[in-house]
Amino acid sequence: MPINPDVFAAPAEDVGAPINLIGLDRDDMAAELAKMGEPRFRAEQLFKWVYGRGVTDFEEMTNISKPLRTKLAKNFVVARPGISRDLASTDGTYKWLLNLGDGNEVECVHIPESDRGTLCVSSQVGCTLNCQFCHTGTQRLVRNLGPMEIVGQIMLARDHLGEWPTAERPTIYERKLSNIVMMGMGEPLYNFDNVAKALKIVMDDAGIAISRRRITLSTAGVVPLIRRCGEELGVNLAISLHATRDELRNEIVPINRKYPIADLLGACREYPGLRNSRRITFEYVMLRDVNDSDADARELVKIIAGIPAKVNLIPFNPWPGAPYDRSSDERIEAFAEIVRNAGYPSPVRTPRGEDIMAACGQLKSDSERPRRVAAE
Ligand code: SAH
Repeated sequence: MPINPDVFAAPAEDVGAPINLIGLDRDDMAAELAKMGEPRFRAEQLFKWVYGRGVTDFEEMTNISKPLRTKLAKNFVVARPGISRDLASTDGTYKWLLNLGDGNEVECVHIPESDRGTLCVSSQVGCTLNCQFCHTGTQRLVRNLGPMEIVGQIMLARDHLGEWPTAERPTIYERKLSNIVMMGMGEPLYNFDNVAKALKIVMDDAGIAISRRRITLSTAGVVPLIRRCGEELGVNLAISLHATRDELRNEIVPINRKYPIADLLGACREYPGLRNSRRITFEYVMLRDVNDSDADARELVKIIAGIPAKVNLIPFNPWPGAPYDRSSDERIEAFAEIVRNAGYPSPVRTPRGEDIMAACGQLKSDSERPRRVAAE
């Protein structure tokens, strides 16, 4: 049975249209080139130009013969997702609304900090989870993003930041896009195959080359896929915990009814590669008078005991019609203090890009599910 049956697949490529190379891995490229009678090493060259250099014009691929470049240009394109709108926050955060070409839109956010720059990447249009405090959950249409649409977010951010290596500048230190968090719209583990394919392309040393240590995948708790995420991708894991009792978590993070806290924490304890230097991040949104008492903090450290972890406290970010308030700064500090005293680092996440609705839980696009026919 599919893990999540309520989601539309990513659209298939148009038959007959030129194939977009973005989203293809090395094997896919080799298979396409083999159809043209070209040897495998050409795929290595193509992979490096497309993902390592960000080149979109075949004429720039100078180690490929002129006749082959012409043939490639006839059969393929190298195209990013379109941009419907982009917005800059006064704090330097930058948000893109991507136009996926089928009427759907999705958001992607760049968050610059002093020692890094993080890109928050979406995995689905909308989300099926309906977490009560999350704006994305109020959006009805849900479809999975394909590998091109996921890798494309990172590539267009790199275009914008001007960070593609060139012959003159082959190595770039202190990148403005150094880290990736799969924390945008959607539940990445409900679109595991496409997310995995995209991240493998992104981590490849010959291409975009962002290390798995700099990639964090956040899940609300799709327990059966957590192990595979560690084994196949080896990226950092973040868990949207937000409550310490099933009764409350069932209500605010409804996927808990399927995969309760004990099962979720069990999967965390067994996460491949878990150790003190590679901790799990527990995300905990601070909702006034809902989950923010001292007793909640004490319960939290009790249930995660023994897991190498840090607890990221996220002040609730409001959105129009949201049924919650943000906890006060004093409350958040008191909560953090209890968690820290138990030995867990507990940073409070500074809201970023609030003026452009780019902060955690504020992302939403206008894509809506087409109206159902009357008989349904
Ligand atoms: N579906 C995945 C990926 C989304 S990550 C997951 O749930 O982990 C987005 C993070 O922002 C999650 O931890 C989510 O719970 C949190 N979040 C959602 N709405 C929020 C809001 N209004 N204020 C603060 N954090 C929010």
